[in-house]
Amino acid sequence: MKTVHTAPTPSQVVALLLDTTPWLSCEDCFEHLDTYAESVAHGAGPASEPMHRHLLGCAACAEELHTLVELLRADLSDDLHDRG
Ligand SMILES: [Zn+2]
Repeated sequence: MKTVHTAPTPSQVVALLLDTTPWLSCEDCFEHLDTYAESVAHGAGPASEPMHRHLLGCAACAEELHTLVELLRADLSDDLHDRG
């Protein structure tokens, strides 16, 4: 099962395998959006595959995430010292 295109990352392979997993509802997404936004704001990347998938397909939540990330980043640049 080897292809020569750009090699998918392990997480992308997992995403393909998880194709039948039900997507989160917006409500579920919202519940974890602040945690997810923090991860993105810190440059850690998507913290949750289902969240990532929902956000790819849901413009409303993606916009909410964008707003949160902007706020968090403003906060981060405002106070560069990690409270640890
Ligand atoms: Zn949504």
